[in-house]
Amino acid sequence: MNFALSEEQEFFKKTIADTVDRMIVPKAQEIDEKDEFPWDLWKEFTGLGYIGLRYPEEIGGMNADKVMCMIFYEEVARGSVGFAQSVIMNILMGTYFIFRFGSEAIKERCLYPAMRGEKVATMCFTEDQSGSDLGSTRTTAVKDGDGWRINGTKMWITNGPVCDFCTVLATNDPSKGLKGLNFFLVEKGTPGFSSGQVLNKLGCRGTVTGELVFDDVWVPDENFLGTELGKGVVYVGDILDEVRLMTGAMALGIARGAYAEALEFARKRMAFGQYIGNFQLIREKFAEMDTLMNAARLMVYYGAWLLEENKDCRVLAAEAKMYATEVCLKVVDELTRIYGANAFAYEYSPQRYFRDARFLLYGGGTHEVLRDFIGRSLIGKL
Ligand SMILES: Cc1cc2nc3c(=O)[nH]c(=O)nc-3n(C[C@H](O)[C@H](O)[C@H](O)COP(=O)(O)OP(=O)(O)OC[C@H]3O[C@@H](n4cnc5c(N)ncnc54)[C@H](O)[C@@H]3O)c2cc1C
Repeated sequence: MNFALSEEQEFFKKTIADTVDRMIVPKAQEIDEKDEFPWDLWKEFTGLGYIGLRYPEEIGGMNADKVMCMIFYEEVARGSVGFAQSVIMNILMGTYFIFRFGSEAIKERCLYPAMRGEKVATMCFTEDQSGSDLGSTRTTAVKDGDGWRINGTKMWITNGPVCDFCTVLATNDPSKGLKGLNFFLVEKGTPGFSSGQVLNKLGCRGTVTGELVFDDVWVPDENFLGTELGKGVVYVGDILDEVRLMTGAMALGIARGAYAEALEFARKRMAFGQYIGNFQLIREKFAEMDTLMNAARLMVYYGAWLLEENKDCRVLAAEAKMYATEVCLKVVDELTRIYGANAFAYEYSPQRYFRDARFLLYGGGTHEVLRDFIGRSLIGKL
């Protein structure tokens, strides 16, 4: 067993942590308060080349291994989870299907500019009536000449209001449920494609999230992202472990940011003539938080290692996402207790961590759905 990061991974961790401290941390509060897509930061940060993180060097990527990817996700979320969400959408789900199935012309138009930060990507699964239950997707794709006609409305789409292109999940046969699902590329400017309601969110602000409307949108056959009709859910399964581990890494990032704030406060706040960090009940909170965070970190990074080694990590990835998120929720809760009343004021950061952490409950699978999946996988079909 070897738990050490390689020299390259250590160097990468230090570099990205320094970049986050310099570029993102000072803007985190403003990003949250304004709740607008931070274009200046986006241009500055994406110009550094990180968006190509997981793609091959031959196409301008960094070819980072899965552990390095988790390091990146954790650090950027530590800075601002809202900003991280937008960036990671371009890195992973917003471009994954295009990288895997897109023609060279599509890659030239969408993937490569997205890897340079020149275009904003997104991924559309969710609809008003279907979140976890993808089989009830109502957006349809009907064959029409040399292409497909798409109709439907997607909700809760990260980067939706500012995206240049999206990968949209649609059914070519609603009676087939999960077996009728497919992915299509739709680009901004395509007639009938528009942005609808923009959501006013509790947390994860600064990544703009909203509705995308597909009103008789026609796309050519080339925009079908797949090799076979009805395999959309299989393709999702191929990336799901990575998405879940990524969410776990983001949870670790938020938890670390919150823990650091709590530690700083406990070391300087006085009560009853001494630092509050001297009180046994406060010290116990740190012992608990550190223990939980270490356990969560081991799960997320072990999962990343398994993924990199092409070993099965389906159950562990779900457990790591769920556990790291629950740990994160515990840590942000403790921060708001340690910080006292100031945690309740918008001027200070604890309330932001508290709100942001809630987002992780949904992406990558709700915890009820994950528990069900883990239990079923462990017990097997009876
Ligand atoms: C900030 C943010 C950004 C997002 N960005 C995107 C995006 O870019 N693209 C996108 O497509 N979606 C996005 N989503 C949506 C997200 O993927 C969904 O919220 C998620 O899939 C859960 O779906 P739902 O919210 O409709 O809840 P539902 O699936 O309707 O669940 C409601 C409740 O029922 C429970 N439940 C459901 N099924 C079961 C079951 N089988 N057993 C037990 N309990 C169950 C759930 O656990 C939950 O408690 C985003 C969400 C948020 C909050």
